[in-house]
Amino acid sequence: SIDFKWIRDNKDAMAANVINRKTAADVEKVVQLYEQSCHLRGEVDKLRAERNAVANAMKGKVEASKREELIEQGQRIPNTTHPSVPIGPEENAVVRKQVGVKREFTFPVKDHMELGLALDLFDFEAAAEVSGNKFYYLKNEAVLLELALINWSVAQLTRKGFVPLSTPDIVRSNVVEKCGFQPRGQNTQIYSIEGTDLCLAGTAEIPVGGLYMDQIVSNSVLPLKLVAFSHCFRTEAGAAGSATRGLYRVHQFSKVEMFIICCPEHSEAFHEELISIEEELFDSLGLHFKILDMATEDLGAPAHRKFDIEAWMPGLDRYGEISSASNCTDYQSRRLNIRYRPVSEALAVKKVKGSLPPLQFVHTLNATACAVPRMIISILENYQQEDGSIIIPEVLQPYMGGLGFIRAR
Ligand code: AMP
Repeated sequence: SIDFKWIRDNKDAMAANVINRKTAADVEKVVQLYEQSCHLRGEVDKLRAERNAVANAMKGKVEASKREELIEQGQRIPNTTHPSVPIGPEENAVVRKQVGVKREFTFPVKDHMELGLALDLFDFEAAAEVSGNKFYYLKNEAVLLELALINWSVAQLTRKGFVPLSTPDIVRSNVVEKCGFQPRGQNTQIYSIEGTDLCLAGTAEIPVGGLYMDQIVSNSVLPLKLVAFSHCFRTEAGAAGSATRGLYRVHQFSKVEMFIICCPEHSEAFHEELISIEEELFDSLGLHFKILDMATEDLGAPAHRKFDIEAWMPGLDRYGEISSASNCTDYQSRRLNIRYRPVSEALAVKKVKGSLPPLQFVHTLNATACAVPRMIISILENYQQEDGSIIIPEVLQPYMGGLGFIRAR
């Protein structure tokens, strides 16, 4: 569901929000349709009160067509924006913090492609034949590195009380849509499977959100903290530029994703917790990075606020995004219909049904723990030695059978 009444009552603020986020939503049209729909609903109620057959027939027709148009229009409305979010394009993001320093090299640095191809760690040419451009085979120690990164990050999160999940890679279009992604159409990031209503999941956020669809979550289990491993599939429609070399922007990758379901008053604090977990993970891998408060035009529809982390990639000679942490407030939970009752279980049992406080929508948050390809880029490029070998970061060595280096065979 979408809170159309709220949108009507805050029309000007939402119209400004839509402009700030540079989205195509027509707030005026949505409000107009909502008012028409309310009016028609009033009419229908009147007719219904007469309890005759004509009124009943009309009810069915009017409501169905208006409802569909309204929902279609409403899909394009983005979430509200946190008041501290910088307004404008990507460049307006504000650096919150820098961690670590750029490593000084005493020799000419190589990028991850040059390093990896020399060490026989991946094959893009064969993948182009078998699957297409922007696919890759990982080989030899790169496979061990991928598995180590996944196991290590899941282990760190389970230690912090997150519940591990491994999710379906194929999801229904309606779940994709309810999470705020566009399942079909020209510029969508989502692959859909022809002749079905199924899509390939672009991120674990979709099947994890879907896991709680249409549920009333007990107050006593909140917050739900989950850590999901999945494959991610992205069309990368419209993506261009220099950042496309090698593993940086690919059509399929492995990712470990954190997801929190909580009551509304706690979501800002959990957003801070997620960003501090990311900081701890990337710092313990020895990376140098910046934490950014992302600007309105870069938030996407579901996020109320988003913090990205960009790590220094010396071979690419620039910072590259390695993670993203979003507070989606009630944007996804309204559409997925995930609610809770804001009283303790004990009280809920004692009270008579009528006097219980009403059900409320939960808040959802998601954040990257480990997006494997960009971690591999960061490790290869930052840990390269003059002879082209790579040091394995200490925290990952136990997950690679004690391997300390990747060396030419
Ligand atoms: P997102 O779900 O779009 O916020 O992406 C989460 C993280 O996944 C990003 O911060 C990147 O590290 C990584 N990522 C996103 N898209 C790609 C891609 N096409 N290829 C490789 N990694 C990606």
